[in-house]
Amino acid sequence: MNFDEAKTLRLQRWRTTIDDQDFRIQNPEGHRETLYEMAATLLNEGLIDLLEQFDMNEMADAAYWHAVEELQDSTGHYRGASTYDVVQIDNGNLLGTISRSIFNFKSDEPRGASFAYDGKVYSDAGGVRLTLGLSRKIGRISGLVLEMNGRRYQLIETERMIAGVTHRPLSDADAYRALIDAAQVAHEERDLRTFERVRPHIESAAFCICPDCLDRFDTREDCPACAGKGFVQKLTAHP
Ligand SMILES: [Zn+2]
Repeated sequence: MNFDEAKTLRLQRWRTTIDDQDFRIQNPEGHRETLYEMAATLLNEGLIDLLEQFDMNEMADAAYWHAVEELQDSTGHYRGASTYDVVQIDNGNLLGTISRSIFNFKSDEPRGASFAYDGKVYSDAGGVRLTLGLSRKIGRISGLVLEMNGRRYQLIETERMIAGVTHRPLSDADAYRALIDAAQVAHEERDLRTFERVRPHIESAAFCICPDCLDRFDTREDCPACAGKGFVQKLTAHP
């Protein structure tokens, strides 16, 4: 393989990665980091020059901000690396947990000798679904809502891997306020380093931006939904 062929092949691999929508939305920070690493390796091997690396990293940053904006407009996104409580929406009862895509019922009902767990979450082009092992029932997950047997369940994130470390959702209201303020400034200034450090903690926090006033300065003050705080507590399971 000559230089041009090698370069074309490796650039194609980078292109496939930047176009990987699932990776980008599942883990925007990991997606950008991977693209940066790929470009650095290409530079080290002499397949691209500094200017090309700069252009590629600019594209990786643009893909990151694009993902951030998409995620801000969505009501939540199922993440295979996270842990969730599965809570029935109309009565708040805990059905079970999903951890790294493995589902287990809360109760220790016998699941049959051939099953190591009660169910598994699959994600592909057709969407996200939960398949139960014993009953072979299938539930659909859209956003963070599971529909199964005509019932609706909310997925509540209880653990998330951020940069290789497991974090519990942030539950301190003052700390949450400080983080969303820091993120807003970083977003306006396109300060990617700061923004990407705080974003996963904001997204997985026990709070979310108030859906009524959207934390807008002019409407927040008189908002009854959040009492002027600009954010509200997410749904939680019965203890
Ligand atoms: Zn509000």
